[in-house]
Amino acid sequence: FTPDFIQAAPRWLGAVAALVSGLLALGLAHTVSRPIEELADAARRIELRAGEPRYPQTTRVLEVQQLAQSIRSMTASLLAREQELETLNHTLEAQVLQRTHALAAANDELERLATHDALTGLHNRRHCDERLAECIAVGQRTGRAFALLVLDADHFKQINDRFGHATGDAVLQQLAHVLRTHTRGTDLLARYGGEEFVVVLPENPTRDEAMAVAEKIRAAVESATFAEAGRVTMSIGLCIWEPTDRSVAGLVHRADLALYQAKHLGRNRVEVAPAGLVAPT
Ligand code: GH3
Ligand code: MG
Ligand code: MG
Repeated sequence: FTPDFIQAAPRWLGAVAALVSGLLALGLAHTVSRPIEELADAARRIELRAGEPRYPQTTRVLEVQQLAQSIRSMTASLLAREQELETLNHTLEAQVLQRTHALAAANDELERLATHDALTGLHNRRHCDERLAECIAVGQRTGRAFALLVLDADHFKQINDRFGHATGDAVLQQLAHVLRTHTRGTDLLARYGGEEFVVVLPENPTRDEAMAVAEKIRAAVESATFAEAGRVTMSIGLCIWEPTDRSVAGLVHRADLALYQAKHLGRNRVEVAPAGLVAPT
């Protein structure tokens, strides 16, 4: 150690200190900063869903290792939960869709039950009255007429008495079938009561046209063979709507009077309600 060397000590000691701190900073950067930067990058990739995150491969700093391990397991459980939620979501959507379809089908069925007769599948009296009210409203507004046929099986009680109720039911079903095959799709068919049916011809028929339909039905029933009951006939009362028919009850009453007339004149026949007959409302 020469005096010159000792005199220059502050300078080379400073240089050595600078070198040492530089090396230390480099070492720190390598062992701490880089892995933390990599972890931050991994966290960013997870946040942005930018592919598989890259975790620092080797680090001697225990805390960084632990941090990397925590982020890795947190990511794994987050992704698993997310997957679970997605699956649940799909299942829920499928269930909602399924229930919606089931509800729509149940509503359709409910609507069908509310408007149809269970035995024959024809419309029921309630629906028939609603449609008749509509026909009357249209008639009042536009003058467009329609025809109402009230059909009643003759001596039906005897069929029940002789062959039993089940045979009677089968006859009612076959009568409904005859009505379907001798009317148009646009006509309204209903089972109005026990062995009483209604046909509405809404397409502004003339008296002769309506009469022809009624006669065709009557003849078809007369010539049909019923499994056990054999022969069955029907009496039909017919009335054409007139502007004085303002209520369903009044209109049906008018057709009923024609039906009674048909029964009175020997059954198995069609009678037309006279025009302008005053009917109760
Ligand atoms: P008419 O020629 O004067 O009409 O005589 P009818 O015997 O047909 O008339 P009546 O009103 O005396 O008898 C109707 C019968 O219809 C009595 C009833 O038991 C029967 N009936 C009503 N509804 C049903 C049903 O859903 N099924 C069966 N099998 N019979 C029914
Ligand atoms: Mg009868
Ligand atoms: Mg009757």
